[in-house]
Amino acid sequence: MEKLRSIPKSSKLFDVAQHHLVGGVNSPVRAFGAVGGTPLFIAKARGATLEDVDGHQYIDFVGSWGPMILGHNPPSVTDAVKKQIEVGTSFGAPCEKEVLVAELIKEAFPSIELLRMTSSGTEATMSALRVARAHTRRVRIVKFEGAYHGHSDSLLVAAGSGATTFGVPSSAGVPEFLAQNTWVLPYNDTEALDDLFVKQGPNIAAVIIEPVSGNMGVVKPTEGFLKMLTAICKRHGALLIFDEVMTGFRLGWGGAQAMFGIKPDLTCLGKIIGGGFPVGAFGGRKDIMEKVAPLGPVYQAGTLSGNPVAMSAGLALLSELKKTPPYAQLEQTTSELVDFLRDCAAKNKIPVQINHVGSMFTIFFNDSPVRNYLEATASDTTRYARFFHELLKRGVYLPPSQFEAAFVSTAHSPTVIDTAEKAFAGAFQALRK
Ligand code: PMP
Repeated sequence: MEKLRSIPKSSKLFDVAQHHLVGGVNSPVRAFGAVGGTPLFIAKARGATLEDVDGHQYIDFVGSWGPMILGHNPPSVTDAVKKQIEVGTSFGAPCEKEVLVAELIKEAFPSIELLRMTSSGTEATMSALRVARAHTRRVRIVKFEGAYHGHSDSLLVAAGSGATTFGVPSSAGVPEFLAQNTWVLPYNDTEALDDLFVKQGPNIAAVIIEPVSGNMGVVKPTEGFLKMLTAICKRHGALLIFDEVMTGFRLGWGGAQAMFGIKPDLTCLGKIIGGGFPVGAFGGRKDIMEKVAPLGPVYQAGTLSGNPVAMSAGLALLSELKKTPPYAQLEQTTSELVDFLRDCAAKNKIPVQINHVGSMFTIFFNDSPVRNYLEATASDTTRYARFFHELLKRGVYLPPSQFEAAFVSTAHSPTVIDTAEKAFAGAFQALRK
């Protein structure tokens, strides 16, 4: 009995969850498969802190994978959501807040002339591809190795082996004939890009890219890569799709496209624009977006798209970001933290590469620079797993995988960062043993 009582509630819940939910979770990374151990079940969150069902508190560097740029439950968002709930949670008919959020998105992203809300990032990228194919009357798609654009069939594709450019399914259930229509290139490889377009330019409907990669861990575009990509798409009549589900409103008010001065044809958004509620959006050039129903022949729809609760959260969050842009402060906090982490790793003789852009960062346990997926996967994932658990013991929650971005929010105050740094220092020291 005594023994039973000492089992953490999270472990007990995970045991039960596995009888009901596939793998005990509703999204695979949450299962801690990459780091081992039992996932924490979270009871509540506030500011930069998560609290699990056992009452343990953690400084959160996941932030729900990006949306929580002002920390958990910022009062303006919570109040807006409460007010909306009082007057209705879903209408299946237009509401004013969809229009207000769309206006703010367009103001921040001048490349977006018309847009459509969805309920997830996956739907946004899936639909963007459909409209790109319809607009160009071409079939083939190009994506980059290590990118994640959600789980639609055309995008669950990995690079084929050897000299073949054909993609292969990266998930069971994705038909090969479909995967063959998606070509996968190494990130930051201008030569491979040029080569593919020389051979296949007229067949390529679109190139979809995370302009700053977050899904192989943070990897920056190398100098000139995005400009070259823009030019080559234009030259060959292929559409350029920026998947800014993660970077939109995260790296700056205008996302990565403002940061790098690029005007993509289409943009996908998610996460922050829903203020922590399920959301996505895709939009771009008017002549392309006019192809979407009801204006055009590309079918796309959603019962909960533009949901009033999600829109009120998004509206409150975007309004805050507009009124008091947090980006300079976030960049400074993150830079200082990253400098500290580099020093700490060096003192303990642990080779790391810390990639950081704005408030996103990844600590790669790797002694060479990480500029693409191949280099990212050369990292020591066993060491990352140990580091992750050492941090957890010390009250810091980092992403449960080497190949994910960590996120800093405005709730990561100097005091919070100070506490986190002590934990990071302890975890690096523990890795020496
Ligand atoms: N694109 C990117 C760049 C993402 O990071 C994600 C999710 N992490 C998606 C698309 C898919 O979004 P969702 O999980 O909302 O379907």
